[in-house]
Parts: sequence; structure tokens; C-alpha cells
Amino acid sequence: MTVRTRIAPSPTGDPHVGTAYVALFNMAFAHSQGGQFLLRIEDTDQARSTPESEKAILDALHWLGLDWDEGPDNGGDKGPYRQSERSDIYHEHAHQLLDSGHAFRCFCTPERLDELRKTQMENKEQLGYDGHCMHLDESEVAERVAKGESHVVRMKVPREGQCTFNDMLRGEISIDWTQIDLQILLKADGMPTYHLANVVDDHLMEISHVIRGEEWINSAPKHILLYQYFGWETPVFCHLPLLRNVDKSKLSKRKNPTSILYYQRMGYLPEALLNYLGRMGWSMPDEREKFTLEQMLEVFDIQRVSLGGPVFDVEKLSWLNGMWIRAELTDDQLADRLHEWALNRDTLKAFLPFARQRMETFSDLAPLGNYLVSGMLPITVEDLKSAGMDEEQLVEVLQFALWRLESVQQWNRDNIFSALKAVADAMEIKLKPFLAPLFIAIAGSSASISVMDSMNLLGADMSRARLRHAIDLLGGVGKKKLKKMEKAYQQLA
Ligand code: GLU
Repeated sequence: MTVRTRIAPSPTGDPHVGTAYVALFNMAFAHSQGGQFLLRIEDTDQARSTPESEKAILDALHWLGLDWDEGPDNGGDKGPYRQSERSDIYHEHAHQLLDSGHAFRCFCTPERLDELRKTQMENKEQLGYDGHCMHLDESEVAERVAKGESHVVRMKVPREGQCTFNDMLRGEISIDWTQIDLQILLKADGMPTYHLANVVDDHLMEISHVIRGEEWINSAPKHILLYQYFGWETPVFCHLPLLRNVDKSKLSKRKNPTSILYYQRMGYLPEALLNYLGRMGWSMPDEREKFTLEQMLEVFDIQRVSLGGPVFDVEKLSWLNGMWIRAELTDDQLADRLHEWALNRDTLKAFLPFARQRMETFSDLAPLGNYLVSGMLPITVEDLKSAGMDEEQLVEVLQFALWRLESVQQWNRDNIFSALKAVADAMEIKLKPFLAPLFIAIAGSSASISVMDSMNLLGADMSRARLRHAIDLLGGVGKKKLKKMEKAYQQLA
């Protein structure tokens, strides 16, 4: 058997360090077995998937030095490698399950499902679909389908016993079937859900080992059942431990930047970031901390993955990055890397239209623009307060602005402006005073160019990270306060 692994990112946001981590381990395992590693784009969620996000994910993984044998960009003979181009395949397979009696059509309205959920919550019952449409008679189903009544296709799941399966790292895992929902396979719009598309593709793409994050363990029974229904061989499962924040909670952008683009913008070396990801739950046999991808691939053994939640600690990453800079780059090479990074003509040219208004001599440029090539700025609470608000209001303005900016899909000046204007209006604060603390958080002083232009030049990740940094400086938002603020924010929206 040829070992084939894959990653299957959904292009619904920024390229996540977790995606790179899972990709690295998939690639290393395939390599250690003389196999192949492929990349598939899971874009069945049409409302949230974007081509920009897909491109950013592929670019970010390539930037890190990860390559795949087959994928949407380099092709392969098991394609297409983008699920939105495979609809017919999923339809055909959903129909196969309907014909074999392993799936059924469900006509329940969203209202009925809401009602059901409410009752289940009130009675403290297990949440999930109650099988209402499972036993409709065939002629009724045919009639309702012919009338064009909206419906979904759900899979049947045993209501007693357990699903027991083997995980490469965790050994035997058992989950009660009653915990498993009668999963929707085809949505009312005809699109497949993740579960159907993922299983069908893993089979057709001849994936032998499914190596993914531990958040998918509870989905494994559905997947195993689908393999059985289709009469296919089940791949080997391996659920990697989730990356964690320093406080051991699941890695989240609230506490840690999670986008690879942020680390790129901060000026980390891709080799060092990849090296650090290789240390997430895994170590070299001689425990050395600094190693290259090639060195990792040479000795990789997946059984050395340990399950204690690996902590993604930016301080440790920075320390490792410093080691890389000192040990691996000559001054010449470092100069090249800095040039490639941001100290180049493109950065300069993007800034000059704004800077020229404020320059008398060339030497004015650096003080005006240094925040564009900096990481976190050395600002203080007093600096933020100079915007004329008390700490509570500052936190509110910065947090609401941040939340609103997190939902900006296409990062450009106009969209940034409308987002901020909407928050200012909703908070009934005039735009100028509203923007004042943002100026300081983003550029370190209110004397900079327009904050919208600054954010546009800095990019989404660095802009959001600076807002987060300012909020942290002000003491952050505790759990209780967060709930209150979320409520207030929702009311504004
Ligand atoms: N599309 C899923 C994700 O975004 C893939 C999960 C899997 O590897 O099965 O993580």
C-alpha cells in the first residue's frame, strides 16, 4: 500500500498556524513512509469560502517551505482538488446511500428544528435530530420531492452500542452511537456537508492515513460509518494534539496571533517558524531545539508525537528565530532577507504619497514611517489616554473597532473606513474623537497619516494585533466584562 496523506483546509479566513502544523506532520509522515502528501481545498461552505483566502493559504504554506505532491495549484490525477468542483460526485454518492437505505430525506423546517432543540434543552436531553422523517413512506417522500419541497439528506446512525476505532496515537477510542447526530449529508441547496465530501474525497483520492487535529475525534464515528455504508476500506486515523495558548486553552486569536501572515509581517524567518511548529508535541531524537525541515524529515517518527497539549509560545518562537538569524545568516544574507521582507522599494513607494506632504528633508522619513516596519509599538497607557477618553471607554472603542475589523473580508481603505464609521455611529461618537485612540494604537502617535491608510499599509493582521496589544496594555477584557461587552456590541450591530 502506498501511504497517502492530505491536509484539507477550508478557505474561510487567514492562513492559520494550526493548518501549517498539521500540514507539516502530514508531510513528514508521508515522507517517512515513502508516500505522497496532497492538499485539497474544502470549500463546500460557499458563503464563507473565498478565492482570496485559498490563495493566502497556499502562498503561506509555500512561504514556509511546505510542498505537496498533488493539489489545486499543481494538479494530479485524482483531481479536481477543490470540493466546489466536485458537486456531481457528492450527489451521486448521496443518492447511492439513499438507494441503499443508509440515508433518508428530511423535510423538517428550520422552525421545527428550533422547537425541537428548545424542548431538548428544557428537558436537559441530548441535543440532536429526533429521526422524525426517517420512517416516512416511500410514496409520500416521492410526492414531496416531486412537488419541489425543500429538504436535506441525512445519514442513518445506530441508536445503540458504541463505535470503537483505533487512533495511531491514542489507541482504542469508543464513542456511544447515541452521541452521534443523524448528520446532514446534503444541504437543502444541494451542497454536501464536510462529512460527506471529506469521506468521499479521502476514498477517491486514496488517502491511507487521515492525520488531523483532535477536534475531529468526535466526527470519526460518522466517517467510519460512511466508509462502511459505501463498502470502502477505512483509512488509519491519527488525531494530533491541538495547539494551545500559554494558559493551555485552545490556541485562539484572542490571546495569540494565529495567522501565518502576522508572523510573516512581524519578520520571522519561515525556517524558524516551521522549526517551531515541528516542536509542537514532537522532538528530535537528540532533543535539539534548532533543526531544519530536511533534518526533521530524515528522522521523523510519528510515534514520537506526545499528546500533552503543545503550547505555541510566541516568546519561545522569537528566541528560536533569533538563534536562526545569528547562526544561519551572514550579513549579506540577512540584508537580502530584510529586503525581501519589507525594507524595499515597494514599502517605500506605498508610503511616499502620504509621507511627501510631511517631509522637508529626506531624514524626516524614518521617524514618520518607522511604525510601518515595526512590530508592537512601545506605547503606554498614558499615550492612549492622551486621546481624551478614560480607560473603560478606551477599551470599549478599541474592542468594538477590533471586532468590527475582524469581519472585514477584503482589507482596503474603503472597507476599513466603513467598518470604523459604522462602529463610531453606533456608539454615537464623532469620527474624529473615535479614531484618536486608534491612531495611537496603530501608529504610536496621533501625528501620523490617516489611520485608515496606516491600517491599509500595515495589513489586517498587524493592525488587529496592535489593537489587541493596546487593549492588553489597558488591562485586557476579563471573562465577565467580555460577556457584557459582547452583548453591548451585538445591540450596537
Ligand atoms: N476542512 C477541515 C478543516 O478545516 C478538514 C478536517 C480534516 O482534516 O478532516 O479542518
